[in-house]
Amino acid sequence: MNETIIELKAVERHYVQGQRKLTILNGADFSLSRGEMVALVAPSGTGKSTLLHTAGLLERPDAGDVILAGRACGRLSDQERTAIRRNDIGFVYQFHHLLPEFSAVENIMMPQLVKGLPPAEARTRAMQLLDYMQIAKRGEHRPAELSGGEQQRVAIARAVANAPLVLLADEPTGNLDPTTASYVFDALAALVRQSGLAALIATHNHDLAQRMDRRVTLSEGHIVPL
Ligand code: ADP
Ligand code: MG
Repeated sequence: MNETIIELKAVERHYVQGQRKLTILNGADFSLSRGEMVALVAPSGTGKSTLLHTAGLLERPDAGDVILAGRACGRLSDQERTAIRRNDIGFVYQFHHLLPEFSAVENIMMPQLVKGLPPAEARTRAMQLLDYMQIAKRGEHRPAELSGGEQQRVAIARAVANAPLVLLADEPTGNLDPTTASYVFDALAALVRQSGLAALIATHNHDLAQRMDRRVTLSEGHIVPL
């Protein structure tokens, strides 16, 4: 269970704001193993989203590299990075970003169809994931007909629909009340444990952070244990 899934090596990320250069990641090192759930806990504005976007190949590091399953991804073409994101990375945001005109099942089918799976197979997998997230009965509902907790469960199911290697979640329960957040987290944790995913989850919720395998924070552009 010690297989490294994703590794950040000396990652730098800088933004230019007017005349100022803002350094967010400054030689950040980090690695995540199969089956491991890590909480990223840091105040707003310190760079949690930047870190997750860089790890998730949505942003490129200015220096250093992101290694996914042994493959250096920082300098790959946009096309290659998109393919890796589609197959190997699941992303969950604070807002669900589900497609409003499609049902829960269809939303979970979508990434599988993009990948080229036959619709029947994609539907079966979507139903299994809904069942796993304990919202099987909500499959035909559109996002607007679901509660906040249900919407996030669908978003999590969609993120793992293509059986990625790593799940990156940016305050996934940040909009939920504490009880709902706890239930959604339980479902997410069960999924991670069952599938052997590696997960990095930004959260402000210290109770949830305590339930993960370890906790890290951002300090002066580095990722350090908490
Ligand atoms: P967090 O998710 O921890 O709240 P972010 O990663 O969103 O932090 O942002 C870290 C810092 O970088 C903030 O000061 C933010 O204003 C700045 N920042 C984020 N994205 C950009 C960008 N595209 N351009 C300029 N500054 C940015
Ligand atoms: Mg953020």
